[in-house]
Amino acid sequence: MKAMVLNAVGRPLQFEERPDPRPGAGEVLIDIAACGVCRTDLHLVDGELPDPALPVIPGHEVVGTVAEVGEGVDRFRTGDRVGVPWLGHVCGTCRYCLSGTENLCDDPGFTGYQIDGGYADVTVADAQYCFLIHGDYTDAEAAPLLCAGLIGYRSLRMAGNDVEHLGIYGFGAAAHIVAQVARHQGRNIYAFTRPGDEPAQKFAMDLGAAWAGDSGVTPPVELDAAIIFAPVGALVPAALRTVRKGGIVVCGGIHMSNIPTFPYDILWGERVVRSVANLTRQDAEEFLALAPKVPVRTSIETFPLPEANEALDALRAGNLTGAAVLIP
Ligand SMILES: [Zn+2]
Ligand SMILES: [Zn+2]
Repeated sequence: MKAMVLNAVGRPLQFEERPDPRPGAGEVLIDIAACGVCRTDLHLVDGELPDPALPVIPGHEVVGTVAEVGEGVDRFRTGDRVGVPWLGHVCGTCRYCLSGTENLCDDPGFTGYQIDGGYADVTVADAQYCFLIHGDYTDAEAAPLLCAGLIGYRSLRMAGNDVEHLGIYGFGAAAHIVAQVARHQGRNIYAFTRPGDEPAQKFAMDLGAAWAGDSGVTPPVELDAAIIFAPVGALVPAALRTVRKGGIVVCGGIHMSNIPTFPYDILWGERVVRSVANLTRQDAEEFLALAPKVPVRTSIETFPLPEANEALDALRAGNLTGAAVLIP
């Protein structure tokens, strides 16, 4: 197999050839067709996530074809098109696993972090954490659904049901998917971007946003909720200033710069700030069934697998309008 491997944080990924993996009991061997590049991969490479299992193959937006099933697998057959998301394993016995919040499991394993992921041409994965990909998506188009889509979907759910006017901060891969789902649900979108980022603002308007502008600017209406995808802590008080009493500010990223102090007034009125962590398998089943019905269309930019470092650099520099996807 061929893979781009993280051997040390803060260093570029290295191209390696290794013997092909074999599926163990309960696992599937997947011929990878595409793997999305997520901001979490940047945080991993930059050393902003604790205790990565180095060396590790990053990538948790994996789309491919089942090439072989291990002993005891009855969820899939050879030839099925499947996706592998961030949630790679949970313990099944902790209080969170037993109460429907396996995303908060005390002893989880995450794809492309503790478990080798999709920056490769083949991988093995636990079949219980793989999902059929529905719809007429190409493999590359489907890849961003696996994290940007899933985490975006969970973030949207956490914003509450009583949301007519929804703010979205940071208009990248997750936002462009969430905006389509939210529009489908009849909500109005207010997109906040880096000051002066006109291409991102135009992108948001093209996806049906009611308004797009610079973060820090007051939108034309009071918002019912806001989701922050940009890893910028200063956006938390900025978003709190835009939401109504009882409104919810959802932080959708795994890592954020420090949140500056802010006056209690902007939290007062039962406003809520909350994070979203990981995903449950139910989120995956629900969202992957919903996406083709919306239909969610993904905007992507493909890179050959050996150019994974260039794709990460483009994401870091903010030079992408859609999602970067690696093709082996
Ligand atoms: Zn658990
Ligand atoms: Zn991700």
